[in-house]
Amino acid sequence: MDVKKTFLSWPVVRQATSGDFLGRGPAVTSARTRGLAPRTATADKVVQSVCPYCAVGCGQRVFVKDGQVVQIEGDPDSPVSRGRLCPKGSASEQLVNSPGRQRKALYRRPGGTEWEPIELETAMEMIADRFLESRRRGWQDTDENGRPLRRTMGIAALGGATLDNEENYLIKKLFTAAGAIQIENQARI
Ligand code: SF4
Repeated sequence: MDVKKTFLSWPVVRQATSGDFLGRGPAVTSARTRGLAPRTATADKVVQSVCPYCAVGCGQRVFVKDGQVVQIEGDPDSPVSRGRLCPKGSASEQLVNSPGRQRKALYRRPGGTEWEPIELETAMEMIADRFLESRRRGWQDTDENGRPLRRTMGIAALGGATLDNEENYLIKKLFTAAGAIQIENQARI
C-alpha cells in the first residue's frame, strides 16, 4: 500500500526534524525495516561454542529460540578469533538447520542400489564387527624371522580437519591400542 507523501515526509525535513542530520538512522528507515528485529535480538538464550569446521577453533555464539538454533555468530570473547568467523564458519547455522541434513544412519547393502535408513545403534554394531574382523584378518604376530610385530595391516585411520585435538587424541589411542600403524590426518597430508 502506498503511504501518502506530505511535506513532512520529505527526506531532508525528516533528517532535520529527527536529529538524524547525516541521514543514517531513523530519517531513512522505512516502516518495514522498523518492524524487523534481528534473530540475535529475539533469541531467548545464547550459548558459547566452537566452530566445528576446522582446527582453528574459532569461538561462536549460538542464538537459541524455543529450543531451536536460529543464528550463529562469532564470539568476541574468544581469544582465538575475537569475534571473527570465515565464510564457512559464518554459515554454520545452515549446517544445523539445512533441510538436506542427514539425521539417520544410511546403509547400502551389497548389491543394493538404494540407501536405506537404519538405527544408529545397528550401524555402530556393524562398524564394530567389521573393525574387529578386519583387524583379525590383517593381524601380523611376527615377521618371517620370528621377530615380534604384533600389529595389524587390516585397519587404518584417516581423520579430517573437522576433528579437534581431543578427538584426534582418542582416535590415535584407539587405533594404536588396536595395533594399527597407519594413522593419519588430512591436516598433515
Ligand atoms: S570460522 Fe572458519 S577458520 Fe574459524 S574454525 Fe570455522 S572454518 Fe575454521
